Amino acid sequence: MLGALVAAALVFAPADAHLARETANGLVSRYTPRDGGTEEGRWAAVFIRDRAVESGLKASLDRFEAETETGRRTFANVEGVWQGDSPDAPWVVFISHFDTKPGVSCPGANDGASTTGLLVALGRCVVRQRPSGVNVLFLWTDGEECRRAYGPKDGFWGSRHAAAKLKASGRQVLGVFCLDMLGDRNLEISVPANGSPALRRIVHRAAESLGLKNRVRDRAYNVRDDHQAFLDVGFRALDLIDFDYGSAPGLNDWWHTEKDTMDKVSEKSLLTAGRLCLAVLGQFRKE
Ligand SMILES: [Zn+2]
Repeated sequence: MLGALVAAALVFAPADAHLARETANGLVSRYTPRDGGTEEGRWAAVFIRDRAVESGLKASLDRFEAETETGRRTFANVEGVWQGDSPDAPWVVFISHFDTKPGVSCPGANDGASTTGLLVALGRCVVRQRPSGVNVLFLWTDGEECRRAYGPKDGFWGSRHAAAKLKASGRQVLGVFCLDMLGDRNLEISVPANGSPALRRIVHRAAESLGLKNRVRDRAYNVRDDHQAFLDVGFRALDLIDFDYGSAPGLNDWWHTEKDTMDKVSEKSLLTAGRLCLAVLGQFRKE
């Protein structure tokens, strides 16, 4: 009987990493550019919604209008829901943006697409393995990138919309994890300073359980990313980002350039990131 009481660890397998990369590749090859608030961006959202459905998630588009510096635009987030046996269970949220940076001819293979694919694969794992005690929301955000400079009418449109909507839903949320640029073939995961200490502890415990302690580092600096919108309305949130993406350590010279292409996105890195995310989810079952 003891065996039945010990929950099996959630598994993110090489086949899941393959699905993550294939999905990213499909997005980049068919929907570049996919800038926030554009028709191409909304078609990219349809593509992601369809992949999320294939993963077994209950997935839908959330179209909304928002003010930009060039007038009102229509954006589309994608929501993918998995609910277990207890609908009242608290929620864990995983986010990735999918849009490209306007004006710089950047395909966003690592920045946007890699973690978009990762979320699709994580969704399939959760549907098949049914973690107990939690419900999971996967959220693909439109319009993370700013057109000129971040401000009230520029950038983070999708995350601000989603954070307000989640707040209004009254759902109990244990944590919001924003994933960004984690397909980098030289994966080093940073945890920026602007994040919830409780979630930071959970991520480090999860990393330690996988022997990945030296791949996940706390940083003293803040990073502007989608998690901030959730922090701003009172949720626990954390960013997991590889912000050293370039031809040599410290240069970050592939970020927001035409060099952010699929050859820099590695299945092995997505495997590591996916294992970490499921270990994070597993931590909540023990709390
Ligand atoms: Zn970016």
